[in-house]
Amino acid sequence: MFRSGQSIGILPPGENEKGKPHKLRLYSVSSPSKGEGGNPNYVSTTVKRANEEVDGVFYTGICSNYLSNLKPGDELSITGPSGKRYLLPSNADEFNYVFFATGTGVAPFRGMIMELIEAGHKGQIVLIFGCPYRTDLLYKSYFESLEKEHDNVHYIKMISREDRRSDGSKKYVQTAIEDYDELLAPILASDNTLVYLCGMKGMQTGIYEQLAKKGYTDYLTAKGEAAEKDPSEWTWEDLKTSVKPSDRTFEEVY
Ligand SMILES: Cc1cc2nc3c(=O)[nH]c(=O)nc-3n(C[C@H](O)[C@H](O)[C@H](O)COP(=O)(O)OP(=O)(O)OC[C@H]3O[C@@H](n4cnc5c(N)ncnc54)[C@H](O)[C@@H]3O)c2cc1C
Repeated sequence: MFRSGQSIGILPPGENEKGKPHKLRLYSVSSPSKGEGGNPNYVSTTVKRANEEVDGVFYTGICSNYLSNLKPGDELSITGPSGKRYLLPSNADEFNYVFFATGTGVAPFRGMIMELIEAGHKGQIVLIFGCPYRTDLLYKSYFESLEKEHDNVHYIKMISREDRRSDGSKKYVQTAIEDYDELLAPILASDNTLVYLCGMKGMQTGIYEQLAKKGYTDYLTAKGEAAEKDPSEWTWEDLKTSVKPSDRTFEEVY
C-alpha cells in the first residue's frame, strides 16, 4: 500500500557516463492511500521534466524525461514506498491543515486532500500553491471545484511572475500568511492545526520567517544560538540553519 505523502523510487534504465546504472529518483505519491481511483493497484505521481539551460547549454533530466515519455502499458521498475513521517496523522479528522506547495510539491497534497474529503473532513483545509505562471497551476480545476463544493476547503494561488501584492511586490507562498491573514490567522492560531510544506528546496525559510513574524512559533523549533533569541530577532541565517519544523510541521523539500 502506498500512502499519500510517501514516495516511490523510480529506477531509470541505462547507465551514467561512468558506466554505472542510473541512480534511483524519488517521486511523491499523489494518489490517496486507497490508490488512484480507489484501486489499490494504481499509484500516481506528478512529474515535471527537469530540463534546464545553463550558460546556453540545454540539459535534460534523466528520470523525469524517462517517466514523462512512458506510454500506457509500458513496464517500469519502482521501489518503495518510502517515508514514515510525512503522512496524515492516524486521527486525521481532529486537525485543520495548512498545506504549502510549490510546483510538483502539490503531489502529496492532492492525495491527502482527496483522502480527507472522502472521509467527510469537517476541519479547515487550506492549500497554498505557488508557481511562476498561471499555466503551472497543477490540478487547478480539481482544487477549484473542491473549494466551490466545500466551505472548509480554501485554495490560494500565489503566482509569482504574474500577480502582485497591494504594495507591488511578488506573491509567494509565504506572503499568503500576510495576504490572507483574515482567513489564516484563526486557523494558524488554533491548537489543532498542522502545517505541511512540500516543493522546492529553500521554500521553507521564507515560510518560517513569516510564521515567526506573525508569532506562530508553535510550528517551529530552534537550536543553538537561535534558541536563546526571541523569534522576532531570528536572522535569515538563523532561519536557514537553526530553525527547524516542530512536531506540528511536516516538511519535504527537494
Ligand atoms: C522526497 C522527494 C520527492 C520528490 N517528488 C517529486 C515529484 O513528486 N515530482 C517531481 O517531478 N520530482 C520529485 N522529486 C525530484 C525527483 O526525485 C528528481 O530529482 C527530478 O525529477 C530530477 O530528476 P532527473 O533524473 O529528471 O534529473 P537529473 O538527470 O538527476 O538532473 C538533475 C538536473 O540537473 C540538470 N543537469 C543535468 N546534467 C547537467 C549538467 N551537466 N550541468 C548542469 N545541469 C545538469 C538536469 O536538466 C536537471 O534539471 C522528488 C525528490 C525527493 C527527494
